[in-house]
Amino acid sequence: MSVISGASEGDRGARGMERVAARPYARVALDIPIAPWFDYRVPDELIGTLGPRDWVLVPWGRGRRVGLVLSVGAAPELPEEKIRAIERRFATAPRPDAAWLALVEFAARYYHRHPGEVALPALPRLLRTPPVARARGCPFERARARFRAANAGRAPGAAEPAELLSGAALPIPAEMELNADQQRALDALLATEGFAVHLLHGITGSGKTEVYLRWIARILARDEHAQALMLVPEIALTPQLARQVAQRFPGAGVAVLHSGLGEAERSAGWVAAADGCARLVIGTRLAVLVPMPRLAAIVVDEEHDPSFRQQEGVHYSARDLAVAAASIRGIPVVLGSATPALESWHSAQRGRYRALSLPLRATGAVLPTLRIVSSRGETGPAGLTEVAREAIERVLQRGEQALVFINRRGFAPVLSCPSCGWLSQCGECSAYRVLHYAGAHRPGAGAAGTGRGGSRYRLQCHHCGGASPVPRACPECGDVDLQPLGAGTQRIEQELATVFPGARIARLDRDVASRRGAAERVLASVHAGEVDIVVGTQMLAKGHDFQRLVVVIVVDADAGLYAPDFRAPERLFATLMQVSGRAGRAAPEAGTDPDGGATPARGEVIVQTRFPEHPLFAALQAHDFTGFADALLAERREAGLPPFRHLALLRAEAASIEEALDFLAAAKAQSGAASRGSEQIRVFDPVPMPLARVKGRARAQLLVESPSRGALHPFVDAWLARLGGIVTRVRWQLEIDPIEI
Ligand SMILES: [Zn+2]
Ligand SMILES: [Zn+2]
Repeated sequence: MSVISGASEGDRGARGMERVAARPYARVALDIPIAPWFDYRVPDELIGTLGPRDWVLVPWGRGRRVGLVLSVGAAPELPEEKIRAIERRFATAPRPDAAWLALVEFAARYYHRHPGEVALPALPRLLRTPPVARARGCPFERARARFRAANAGRAPGAAEPAELLSGAALPIPAEMELNADQQRALDALLATEGFAVHLLHGITGSGKTEVYLRWIARILARDEHAQALMLVPEIALTPQLARQVAQRFPGAGVAVLHSGLGEAERSAGWVAAADGCARLVIGTRLAVLVPMPRLAAIVVDEEHDPSFRQQEGVHYSARDLAVAAASIRGIPVVLGSATPALESWHSAQRGRYRALSLPLRATGAVLPTLRIVSSRGETGPAGLTEVAREAIERVLQRGEQALVFINRRGFAPVLSCPSCGWLSQCGECSAYRVLHYAGAHRPGAGAAGTGRGGSRYRLQCHHCGGASPVPRACPECGDVDLQPLGAGTQRIEQELATVFPGARIARLDRDVASRRGAAERVLASVHAGEVDIVVGTQMLAKGHDFQRLVVVIVVDADAGLYAPDFRAPERLFATLMQVSGRAGRAAPEAGTDPDGGATPARGEVIVQTRFPEHPLFAALQAHDFTGFADALLAERREAGLPPFRHLALLRAEAASIEEALDFLAAAKAQSGAASRGSEQIRVFDPVPMPLARVKGRARAQLLVESPSRGALHPFVDAWLARLGGIVTRVRWQLEIDPIEI
């Protein structure tokens, strides 16, 4: 993505204020989609002190809103008598720095939204909800006190913020030795001055995190006020990782930010980051928009991960905004992954990003052997082929651990009637309701009797959340013998218990993790060796370093193989590579290799598929990301897809599909005038989305493609202005660089 540099609106506003300080109007950004700013009068008591990037409370309709001052002093666009006054300013709130506002304005321009729609939703709810003004005491001071207290606990004797800030107190940890590649990568990072994007391509277990943490430690030690930001995917930010990072930086004031936190904790971290007290922020995508006035280094770990894409409000990519932030601030950013996004890989090939590589596992362990096993014939209980079952048996005999991966939660993806073909369709969505087991799993309870009609099972839609009891008989023909089709994590877990009686089995998926602390307990028991077989989804694939785990079984690799989205193979490869990477990570035991020959791999991965001849598997088997990525890039170039083309997607949602398609057809009719006949802009026909109905609303989309960002963005601006004139009940939204099509 390109970054438009130059003075931000905020800077212009600041200068404007000096020139015409007497003119008492402010432009205030609100989280309201109708305008980039709203004019307000500056009350007498704030004249001379109110400035850009101040947080204010303003009247809006009959209520009040929290807003961000963009500038003070410009002439208002409304007549004087229509302008209302700012109610008050949050004087104790941290005022973000100008580079932060420049990032917000960049994001607003790039995604064709307004600054308030970017900036306000990024605030913790506690700070952006109007009652903040009425709360007793100051919420910002409370947040500060909370952060100080939490960090004082972590670093005994460093209770005061002054001590927390002391750079001299930050030791550079001397821990395990880096291997030559890690050292080379670290040296390259340390030699960087100013803006640069490094793409750190490191295989699973190659010690990327160690490189990040050493780099951050050196940066924080070099400048006693410097701050660093580390972005991680949603499900990789476990309490273990947060603790591990906090322990590495005692006294640094580590703020952890993710959506699962309580509001008070999130506010504490946000205020500490914006004050400059938190020297290191580790967080999920939302953390990219946290103001950090002394930000000196950014890490985006697992940069290919889809969870860096915001899916509500402004659909931004936190990875792309991290690069923009680094460019605006003139600082380095590291994007790390075992399977970089093709966009990043392509940028490294073109020399826009600097490529760093970690081709070996840090512990000296060898990558696991990978077997592609056809599941076309019979598979036994738990969906296991004979090969997979034997591999687990060997693991159990040796007292090691196995991971069984299935990226589908619930008991079975659909309930069916064998007599008439009825399926458990969701009434609100074009999807099936998933059979879920609602009771606690009892080992040996048996897999055959699914308790149909029993209260322990229910049907649940994964798209609208709608749930219903399991019907006692087929709603169409009355047959009582309804059958679950396929298997999810719960069924696999139950059936494993019958195949391997006595084995200790645990499960980790979103259903388990929805209970507070449950995910952490499962992970801890796997680490402690209290579990023999762990069954789970993506949640198990990322980042975990299970020392006793030697076998990984991928029950069904086919779901992503022939999906309509052009990014499906890229995602499938990344997921399989990542989950495979959990196997055999421990350092080779001393004495296992008396002859001095090649160290044998301890890890074994078995991927079950009905399409073993698919080329994706050959690349996976060879651990050949480079070859796979280059082949995919060649395909994308041929097909005219990203990163060789830039996309915008107009989505529409309406009561009926006809209404949605009609709106998109009207939108397409406006595109010619907006592009002024430019051959650089190609507008496709409207089509229903693959998931055509969700929550009773029909959904359709219209794709726009261009070889040039320089052509695409002005077109979108002109087009959006015309779309605003179409009178419709259809809800629509335009997305730049969509990741799902
Ligand atoms: Zn039936
Ligand atoms: Zn539904």
